[in-house]
Amino acid sequence: MAYDVKKTIPEVKNYIGGKFVPHHGDFLDVLSPVDGEKISKVPLSSAEQLDQAVISARAALAAWSATTIKDRVQIFFKYKSLMERDMDDLAYLVHVENGKTIDEAVAEVKKGIEVAEFACSLPQLVGGEVLEVSRGVECRIDKHPVGVVACIVPFNFPFMVPNWTIPNALALGNVMVMKPSEVVPLSCIKIAELLKEAGLPDGVFNIVNGDRVIVEGMCDHPGIDAVTFVGSTKVAKIVYQRATHNLKRALCLGGAKNHLIVLPDANPDMTANNIIASMAGCAGQRCMAASAMVGVGKIDTIMEKIVEEAKKVVPGENLGAVISAQAKARIEGYITEAEKGGARVLLDGRNFKVKGKENGYYVGPTVIDNVTPDMKIAQEEVFGPVLAIMRTNTVDEAIAIENKNPYGNAAAVFTQSGGMARYVADRASAGMIGVNIGVPVPREPFSFGGWNDSKFGAGDITGKSSIEFFTKPKKTTVKWNAEAKQNWMS
Ligand code: NAD
Repeated sequence: MAYDVKKTIPEVKNYIGGKFVPHHGDFLDVLSPVDGEKISKVPLSSAEQLDQAVISARAALAAWSATTIKDRVQIFFKYKSLMERDMDDLAYLVHVENGKTIDEAVAEVKKGIEVAEFACSLPQLVGGEVLEVSRGVECRIDKHPVGVVACIVPFNFPFMVPNWTIPNALALGNVMVMKPSEVVPLSCIKIAELLKEAGLPDGVFNIVNGDRVIVEGMCDHPGIDAVTFVGSTKVAKIVYQRATHNLKRALCLGGAKNHLIVLPDANPDMTANNIIASMAGCAGQRCMAASAMVGVGKIDTIMEKIVEEAKKVVPGENLGAVISAQAKARIEGYITEAEKGGARVLLDGRNFKVKGKENGYYVGPTVIDNVTPDMKIAQEEVFGPVLAIMRTNTVDEAIAIENKNPYGNAAAVFTQSGGMARYVADRASAGMIGVNIGVPVPREPFSFGGWNDSKFGAGDITGKSSIEFFTKPKKTTVKWNAEAKQNWMS
């Protein structure tokens, strides 16, 4: 065990102006999904506490944005090496508060580190453009920070998702107020400590814990210039509408229902392996998880392998817990309803108990065949280790099912034909496409973001695309006096 979380963080505090501030109002218990035990408590902050954080951030903005980007990224070089130094503690914290396995938590921390690594390369990417537009007249573009950025994050990646925005936004000269998920608020404490140790000036990064009071406050606060949100589609819509109504820049990533289309020529071992890893990884609580599979034509061998692979996934060993007792009940409800509607449960993960962790929230791997597109399990985000399989005779029918779904985060095709892979990739209505890959997360410098109801706002949240969101372009046109008598075009 890396360290005792209950002793290290018995009470979560807000982080304002470089200091952890005790809270004197209401708290919410933080429970570990691993065993259902209380590990900490988190403040339900007020609008006044948000206001203090915004004041602190705004006060830090002028000095921070006046430094050069080359200086700013030095802090992220250090931050990266501190995350590497503390990898075990960070991964353990993610495991305890979120319930995912230690291996998955390590992968999550590594992905956070990768974004910091990308931020360190920003000076190479944001150099302004200059062009002599007319003899002696020069236009140039410089990228300026947007200002105070508010970030609202979900429960499923307590370390990685905050780090989707922190390194890039801050390296580009912005300051930030972060609202962690109230269900998993502990990793952000470590993030604040490491940023401070790396040399980030006080006030540049702030944390306000809480629930919708803080989210709504962020959308309304006149001192906040931009809002990023990652979470469910229902809340993404609310936040996008409210923040843009208040004339803020907003980028809101929502939920998902990712379709994996399996063609009969797919490699059975590789396909089964990838699909089960995608469906069961992080207990299915990923916006990139395989949730619906559409099998085209005769795929009997692949189906056998899928069930075989799924049986290798064991809760409490290589399968983590789901986030809460309510989530477990919701996921199992989807399975029961599909079964009642005529679907065949090939592998049933309901009512699973892990020995020694009887109060943990575990759902076993579940594979359901003969699901029809009209079923709830085929349409809604289940967010658990459940694979709903639909069957079609043609690839066009499979594409039609994928296209009809309102989400559009990811889609994947499994085939050995390059032509068919391109055919499906071109027609799938999703922002991230996998060919023989079940979790097609674009690695840096490629950016992360879906389409349709999986994302509201222009551009993506990470990678090169995030530069546009976190900066505003200033266009300067210059004409020098010495050449004033010439016949200028401008
Ligand atoms: P959620 O929408 O319930 O919560 C996200 C954030 O919004 C939290 O900080 C929460 O405090 C706040 N919130 C919740 N309800 C609110 C309300 N009514 N008004 C204002 N704020 C509110 O999401 P979650 O359950 O924490 O996370 C799971 C969801 O996030 C899934 O739908 C998943 O697909 C999605 N997700 C999407 C991506 C992506 O990149 N598209 C990445 C990770 C997670």
